[in-house]
Amino acid sequence: MGNSIAVKVDARAALAPKQALEAFLYEPGGLGDHDIEVAITHCGICHSDIHLIDDDWGISKYPLVPGHEIIGTVAARGPKVRALGLGERVGIGWQRSSCLACEFCRRGDENFCSRQEATCVGHFGGFARSIRADSRFAFPIPKKLPSESAAPLLCGGITVFSPLIHFGVGRQTRAGVIGLGGLGHLAVQFAAKLGAEVTVFSSSRDKEASARDLGAKRFSVGAQGKPGSLDFILSTVSADLDWSPFMELLGPDGKLCFVGVAPKPIQIPVFSLIGGRKSVCGSPIGGRKDIRRMLDFAAKGGIRAQTEALPLARVNEAVEKVRRNQARYRMVLVNE
Ligand code: NAP
Ligand code: ZN
Repeated sequence: MGNSIAVKVDARAALAPKQALEAFLYEPGGLGDHDIEVAITHCGICHSDIHLIDDDWGISKYPLVPGHEIIGTVAARGPKVRALGLGERVGIGWQRSSCLACEFCRRGDENFCSRQEATCVGHFGGFARSIRADSRFAFPIPKKLPSESAAPLLCGGITVFSPLIHFGVGRQTRAGVIGLGGLGHLAVQFAAKLGAEVTVFSSSRDKEASARDLGAKRFSVGAQGKPGSLDFILSTVSADLDWSPFMELLGPDGKLCFVGVAPKPIQIPVFSLIGGRKSVCGSPIGGRKDIRRMLDFAAKGGIRAQTEALPLARVNEAVEKVRRNQARYRMVLVNE
């Protein structure tokens, strides 16, 4: 089997902020030494794709092809690609490259590299039939993981797994997850599998039963609960909330960790930090070793995204469901 190269890539792009996506063909350019071409079978829709379509962060370039929870098979390889074979199933997430030489890259924290590039910022992403990417940021998918439920692991999964591991969430931890969406429903599964006792804080009453099915012990609409009853809270919400009541729910040395991008600066009274030596922190995606560890942990632990599939041609319908918080829990675009 030899390289099979797309002359033009069939994609869906926003041509301006907040617009519906349209059919968009582009020429992919040369296949670099370390590049692969991936025939995309699945691509999850992360809320970051919505932030990019809307230019919420002021970094979007149009035409913008979103999509960074990609699974597909290797269709072509550059001359220096050794680790991945033609036809192999791989996943690609938010990060497409890094310098691979700085102190952070050398220790496996490529997500801190100042020269990192993102899959769909300044490059065309995964809402498409194929993509060219750096093979060193493409990850073999364990056999046990079906593609549709594994695609959301490439961004949503690693983004919640990385801080859970880094901050030592485990058997002794009383953990909270704010927001039961794409990231949140994976966070509940990972935290529960790590042994934590999980409370979900949601704005949607109808999510209680599924929160419990996913492994949550408690479910609360809003920041209800006993003061000091939690050790670690992960916010996966893409909206502004009153964060102060969550600080009250944390006990001494408790942490409120943000992965969801609330639009406005967060406001927290200093005394709520001083009192119990508490902290507020954030976390970006995860490095390559953590992505491999996360995929392995998900395969062994039976962690699966709950998905709703739609074909690429119905991308606008899928995007709209994410905007309206109607996805249960991740929309995934599928190429037949
Ligand atoms: P999502 O699927 O849309 O889920 C977000 C959840 O937040 C919703 O399901 C909802 O949960 C809650 N929510 C939304 N609007 C709300 C509102 N107005 N008030 C209260 N709760 C609200 O989004 P996602 O894909 O999980 O992404 C979540 C955030 O993480 C986004 O901001 C995204 O950009 C960010 N993100 C960050 C990283 C990183 O590296 N740090 C990586 C990926 C994504 P309930 O219905 O349960 O309230
Ligand atoms: Zn994402």
